[in-house]
This record gives sequence, structure tokens and C-alpha cells, in this order.
Amino acid sequence: MDAKFDYQSAFAAAVDQVKAEGRYRVFADIKRLRGQFPRAIWTGPNGLDEREVVVWCSNDYLGQGQNPVVLNAMHDAIDMVGSGSGGTRNISGTNHQHVELEAELADLHGKESALLFTSGYVSNEATLETLQTVLPGLIIFSDAFNHASMIAGIRHGGCEKHVWRHNDLEHLEALLKAAPADAPKLIAFESVYSMDGDIADINGVADLAERYGAMTYLDEVHAVGMYGPRGGGVAERDGAMARIDIIEGTLGKAFGVMGGYITGSAPLIDAIRSFASGFIFTTSLPPALTAGARASVAWLKAHNEVRVAHQERAERLKAMLRSAGLPVMPSVSHIVPVLVGDPVHTKLVSDMLLRDHGIYVQPINYPTVPKGTERLRFTPTPFHTDEMMSDLVRAMDKLWARCNVKRMGGAAA
Ligand SMILES: *Cc1c(COP(=O)(O)O)cnc(C)c1O
Repeated sequence: MDAKFDYQSAFAAAVDQVKAEGRYRVFADIKRLRGQFPRAIWTGPNGLDEREVVVWCSNDYLGQGQNPVVLNAMHDAIDMVGSGSGGTRNISGTNHQHVELEAELADLHGKESALLFTSGYVSNEATLETLQTVLPGLIIFSDAFNHASMIAGIRHGGCEKHVWRHNDLEHLEALLKAAPADAPKLIAFESVYSMDGDIADINGVADLAERYGAMTYLDEVHAVGMYGPRGGGVAERDGAMARIDIIEGTLGKAFGVMGGYITGSAPLIDAIRSFASGFIFTTSLPPALTAGARASVAWLKAHNEVRVAHQERAERLKAMLRSAGLPVMPSVSHIVPVLVGDPVHTKLVSDMLLRDHGIYVQPINYPTVPKGTERLRFTPTPFHTDEMMSDLVRAMDKLWARCNVKRMGGAAA
């Protein structure tokens, strides 16, 4: 009885492997400061040192996490109804705030119905898995760069699936053409791809879906609140909302709170509501959170100037980095990725920016992005000033020279 399995060594060995590849993840400990976004206080690794930093990698893309309209709605809801929701949606956990938010979201996307989940991850995973239960024989066509939550949902259902080369509609068409004409089909893709900042041709995908009798599932997580005249996403901007069967989004990024959702036809939402385990068997979101999210969605519908300012800030930062010869990747969205190309340098540059310059940008490594494309990913918001941008570009320029990282056109400094 002496040779027992050594669990702790097995865990440590798994992590050592990650460390050896230079992609061990260290979380930055920050305190956000109410009303001062994007400024925050960073607590150093010893738990003692504190310094003020500018956050450059938040997915609170529009600063809605600090908007008094959102905060007041949350305070009011707590004062009125208390903290938790009280249960699952089926057993006493459907609060009036859930019903109101679902109506607000259905309206945002021009759909009959909406359904809330506890996160965007859960909404993707649960919906894509459940569609396979509800539609036996379903074949799913999935973009190669789809988010981990979509891949998880597709895998869990176990149906036939085909992965099309990222944003390559010719490849998608070839795969659709090869499938049986009468089989139920679903095309799953995203609008804004968050690591490269490129955008799908939504109308092009919808054309193919019509031609081959497929349904469409669009993840607009990095677009809701930010694109379209009312913040309905890229599908709204491109006049394609009505052509997409299921639009999925998050309340945790541009809307500044937390939670996920899908929108679609009434029968479709009713089916997902009735079969999705990840919807049914979990406590619903707290009412203060859904009240805050509803206030955020409604406010952004009416404030297009925030979206205009957001795009202007992103363009400005791209231009400033480019003119310093820093390798901005070709993004057509609000996301500003700068290529470093290996995990060790990415982490080194990120650590030095934080420690020496008060600039917080998280290194992005494999498996979030392919090996060799490790990068820093900046997300300027309407609250990032010209001065903050100048400080950033100056610091990057210095570090690029010091660490001998490649510049634009591929030459090391
Ligand atoms: C962040 C993200 C999600 C998950 O949304 P959460 O609300 O954070 O769980 C889904 N899809 C994409 C593309 C994402 O980047």
C-alpha cells in the first residue's frame, strides 16, 4: 500500500509545462475607482505595493461600468428588492427585472424574444448544445476562429460539424454544398473577432444561408452597444439583423455589467428555454444586475455619440502607434492589437509597462491566439485621453528599442 498516486505533483507538473512555454498566467490585482475610469489602483505581487495605473485592456469598452445611469439603476433595485433573485427562472427566480430586460434586448435586435443566461459563455455553450437536441441530424458549420464557448457547445452536442477557414465564404459554400440539401444546418460565427479586430461579412453569410437552407447563429459579444445606430451590433450597422436567426450577446463587456443572452423568434426561444440545462438548472441573475444592464442597454440605444467617440479614439491610437513604427495588426474595429510574436517578450513588455510606466495591458498568449502571434491588445475607450495615448506610445517606443522587438515591416530595432 505504499505506491499511492501523487496528485499534488501531477498538478505542479502540468503547470510547469505552461511555465516552460513562457505562457504561465499571472492575474493583475486591480481596484477600479468609481468615476475615474480608465484609472485604477494596481496591487503588486507582494500584496503591499500599490500604484495608480491606466487600464488599457478592459472590455468595459464604453466605460458603462461607471455610468451613473447604470449605477443608480443598480442601487435603486437593491433598495427596492434586495440582493439575489431567489431561485432558478422556473422556481421563483423570474423577477420583473428579468422580464423587462428580455423585452429590451429583443427590441435591440429586432427579434420577437430574448433569453437571459448567467454569462455570454453559458449562452453560447447552452444554446449551441441544445439546438442539437431540438434538431436531430443538425449539421453545424463553424468559423475556425470561433470563441471557446461556441466550440464547447458544438462539441457537447456531438453532432456532425464542419470548420470553415476563418471568414472564408468560398470555403463555407463548398462545405454547405457538400452536405445533404434536406438536412437541418446551422452556420455559427462572430461579427467582431476580438483578438484580431476583423469583422465578418454578415450579409455574405446570410446569402449563403438562404441559398443552402441553413440557420444562422451570430455572436455579437464584441459589438453589442458599440456598432449600429442603436448599439444593436454589426448586424444592425450592416442592415442584416432580420437575416440572422439567433443573435447572441453579453451584458458584461460594452454594457458594463454581467450576463449573457440570445435573441430570436418566439418558437426558437421557447424551445431553448424548455430544453437548455445551462439555463434551467441554475440560479438566475440578481435583479440589481439585470436592472443595471437594462439601464445600460436603453441608455446606449439613445447615445450614438458615444459610439462615434469610441471609433475616433481607436483610429487615433492606431495612427499614433503606426507613426512610431510599432506593428499594429490590421484591425478594422475598436480593437488595437500590437504584434510581439513570442510569449516571453510579450510578458516582459507587459510587465515593464505596468511596473515602470503605470500602463496595464495584459499579454495575450496561446491558446487564446495561435503560437507566434502573441500580442498586446489595447482597447481604447471614449475615456482614454490624447495625453494617455502619448504616454503609451512613448513607453512602447522605449521598450521596443530596449527589448529589441520587431517593428513595422518586420525589422528589429
Ligand atoms: C467574452 C466572450 C464571450 C463570453 O461572454 P461572457 O459574458 O464574458 O461570458 C463569448 N463570446 C466571445 C466572442 C467572447 O469574447
